[in-house]
Amino acid sequence: MDTHVIDGTALSRRLRSDLAARAAALAARGVRPGLVAIEVGEHPASRVYVRNKLKACAEVGLHSEHVELPDATSEPELLARIRALNEDPRIHGILVQLPLPKRITAERVLSAVTPGKDVDAFHPLNVGLLAAGNARFVPCTPAAVIAILEAEGVNPWAQHAVIVGASNIVGKPAALLLLQRGATVTICNSKTRDLADHTSRADILVVAVGKPRLVTGAMVKPGAVVIDVGINRLPDGKLAGDCDFPSLVGVAARATPVPGGVGPMTITMLLANTIRAAELATQESPA
Ligand code: NAD
Repeated sequence: MDTHVIDGTALSRRLRSDLAARAAALAARGVRPGLVAIEVGEHPASRVYVRNKLKACAEVGLHSEHVELPDATSEPELLARIRALNEDPRIHGILVQLPLPKRITAERVLSAVTPGKDVDAFHPLNVGLLAAGNARFVPCTPAAVIAILEAEGVNPWAQHAVIVGASNIVGKPAALLLLQRGATVTICNSKTRDLADHTSRADILVVAVGKPRLVTGAMVKPGAVVIDVGINRLPDGKLAGDCDFPSLVGVAARATPVPGGVGPMTITMLLANTIRAAELATQESPA
């Protein structure tokens, strides 16, 4: 079987040009969509992620700001900063880069972002809307998974989708989105017995665990579509996914590589959510 390697970078480029047009249409009405990324403390990986996100904002014509707070920032200080940004008319999307220092309660911080600017879709209200099938914002990585499937012409309807990983930011929302699109969904986690028994039944396999090369070609059904969300830094400094990509070749019909698969698409979905937030805010504001 020929395996089609899904090019998330090329797809991102195409989608970002549409997003630039939407941003330009808003700008013509006097609204420049704006995103703020808040980072607390020093995390080299977070620094790279935030830099990439802000660079992508500039590419599609969005205003962006980077709030860098010292590691010693208290939770009340962080909450006060978020409340000020909630009221800032230049800002349509607020993202709080995780992880936060341990003494700060992430749930309280994420719930402080006003739901209309919650472009990561981590606020409980947005989580609930997604679960009810009425999402205002879809969290960026699961949205990237769905956008890739759509662009590849893969319809989840009546397919068996297996999600490996059940986190709040990837696995669970990806499962809901696939369920809402008519898939029969199995969600695996660290307690799952005989992971291969599940993965080998998947028509669509989404892997989001954080363990390099956990899933090999021998665990995949011939002809399956494999979406590898994992990003793992190996001791040699290289990036690896949660799937052993070379062993998927010849087994999967389609598969995403790491890097160059879900990663760039996640950033594209963040841009899309920021533009959507600006569009919604414009619709809601009195003429
Ligand atoms: P997490 O640690 O929050 O959750 C991991 C999940 O995997 C848990 O539900 C756990 O039960 C499950 N798990 C652990 N070991 C398992 C095993 N052996 N078999 C089955 N399930 C197992 O992780 P996360 O935040 O969801 O991230 C997962 C991966 O995706 C990481 O590599 C992360 O870097 C990556 N990620 C990538 C993007 C992107 O833009 N591409 C975005 C977010 C996360």
